[in-house]
Amino acid sequence: MALINAARLIADLRELAGIGKLGTGVDRVALSPADIEARHWLMGRMRAAGLAARMDSVGNVYGRYPDAERAILVGSHTDTVPQGGWLDGALGVVYGLEVARAALEAGGASRVGVDVVAFQDEEGSFLPCLGSRSFCEDVTEAEIRAAKSKDGLPLIEALAALRNEGPRIRRDPQRVLCYLEAHIEQGPRLEALGRRIGVVTGLVGIRRFRIGCRGQADHAGTTPMAMRKDAGMALFRLATRIADEFPGLGGPDTVWNIGNVALRPGAANVVPGDGEMTLEFRDIDPSTLDRLEQGVLAWVAEASRGPLSLHAEATARIPPTRMAEHLAQAIAAAAAAHGEEPVFMPSGAGHDAMVLGRFMPAGMLFVPSIGGRSHDVAEDTSEADIVLGCEVLAAAVAKLRQALETGSV
Ligand SMILES: [Zn+2]
Repeated sequence: MALINAARLIADLRELAGIGKLGTGVDRVALSPADIEARHWLMGRMRAAGLAARMDSVGNVYGRYPDAERAILVGSHTDTVPQGGWLDGALGVVYGLEVARAALEAGGASRVGVDVVAFQDEEGSFLPCLGSRSFCEDVTEAEIRAAKSKDGLPLIEALAALRNEGPRIRRDPQRVLCYLEAHIEQGPRLEALGRRIGVVTGLVGIRRFRIGCRGQADHAGTTPMAMRKDAGMALFRLATRIADEFPGLGGPDTVWNIGNVALRPGAANVVPGDGEMTLEFRDIDPSTLDRLEQGVLAWVAEASRGPLSLHAEATARIPPTRMAEHLAQAIAAAAAAHGEEPVFMPSGAGHDAMVLGRFMPAGMLFVPSIGGRSHDVAEDTSEADIVLGCEVLAAAVAKLRQALETGSV
């Protein structure tokens, strides 16, 4: 028996996608008029479902399940990247709405309800995961005062558009027992495997380095090859070594990227005198991240023994966040009950669950992204997969509510 109303789920997702609509996608950047309209729309939907809805002064929208002492929190974010897709974030929020709405309709006394949340600015137009960090009291007022959009608009000024001075909505540890977030995969793995449900084991840790090299600029026509101090070649050799050795050093899900290389002075007839490149790598396992870092630092030191000097500076170290095992198992069991063998996989992208997971047990479910496309208007998921994902989430939530009610979790 269906636990949710599939037609209503799809209709609400389509209606929300109409707010800030841009071709087949959506442009609903945090605190834009479209973002604020979407948040008011969501509050209306929550109230119609019987949830007590409220928006706070950063724009987090929270729908409280009536007559429940404790709750499972389900949600995601309704802001998008510029020229984004219709499902990134919105899917998880409307799933939460539908799961809570269907649970209320089904009735039955339960002291464990389903609260629903739409966090603000997960995409970081001003401050990444602003809403979930505010909710978990994991952001300082100084950070909020300092945050600006890339066009220089201060976050504080943008927040004034909410016309909401009310207190922030904070996580209530007495009430909220755990957090579940469904999301599109935003990558091609589920589709390539022909599978329909991903169970997220954790959100990967990220390490970023700026690797600089100092050599000597010389005439590229008159300086013999053996006498050059070519900073560009040194960086390319290091990049090749990373590409050759990371597969052996990393784990099966390790990913890395050299996203930017700059050489100076940057002319065809001048040997590069200095340069730098950025290296980022991600993995769920901290010891794998350590191993990769030690490798890079050793190769940088080795490359510095000649006439060139290289140095690596860490610019970001974000630790991995593990998802709670019992929540992953609950999602996997619900998928199996729907005849789907789930894929256990790390999330290579950041999500609000990364923040929540540091403060309470958190779990994530993925549905496939067609062609792996995301953060673009081309982002899409089949309606059948959207409905299945919500059914699986609803089944997992139902089981967890039962278990929490009887104290067996
Ligand atoms: Zn997202």
